[in-house]
Amino acid sequence: MDETEFIFGVDLDGVVGDFYGAMREIAAEWLDKPISQLTENVSFGFEEWGIDDFGGYDRLHRFAVTQRALFRNMKPLKNASAVLRKLSAYGIRIRIITHRLFLKYSHKTTITQTVEWLDSYDIPYWDLCFMKDKGAVGAHVYIDDTPINIELLRANRCKCIVFSNSTNQGVKGPRANNWLDVENLVLRAKEEWSTGARGLFEDGV
Ligand SMILES: [Mg+2]
Repeated sequence: MDETEFIFGVDLDGVVGDFYGAMREIAAEWLDKPISQLTENVSFGFEEWGIDDFGGYDRLHRFAVTQRALFRNMKPLKNASAVLRKLSAYGIRIRIITHRLFLKYSHKTTITQTVEWLDSYDIPYWDLCFMKDKGAVGAHVYIDDTPINIELLRANRCKCIVFSNSTNQGVKGPRANNWLDVENLVLRAKEEWSTGARGLFEDGV
């Protein structure tokens, strides 16, 4: 890994973009139910919404991306794009790492929507990686919200901040509850990287 600059590995769905809010609106339409019947307190896969009876997660996700331009239309989470611009201005290299290509046969749609969305919100990045194995990409600190991704990163000795939402309540920190927390934690991680100090990731992971 390039050791001359600090690399921040950033997940998109549920971290930069309001994936759960956007999917809730689309799912209400798809299920033909009032949105108030769909809890915001979901786990990964939305089993609380009862989508399995209607074709399941993959089908809903495909509808969302190919028919409702999910990756182009979702809103960024509060302060996400502004803080990324700030971190970039501090000389931190933003490396976006997303597993969006898990959706087969519509890669052009997925990639086009993603790039247009990033540009339209002026989100800075030097690297855009469509990867399942996020640890293989290399970053000094990562942020992710999905428990399995966080677990795999940590199993590979990668430092990972948890971006809090209802899908990851049981997962060990460090944890950011919003993007102002992200800013503080990433700057601290950068400081520890440059000085060799430990603290944020106290068990050395
Ligand atoms: Mg995510």
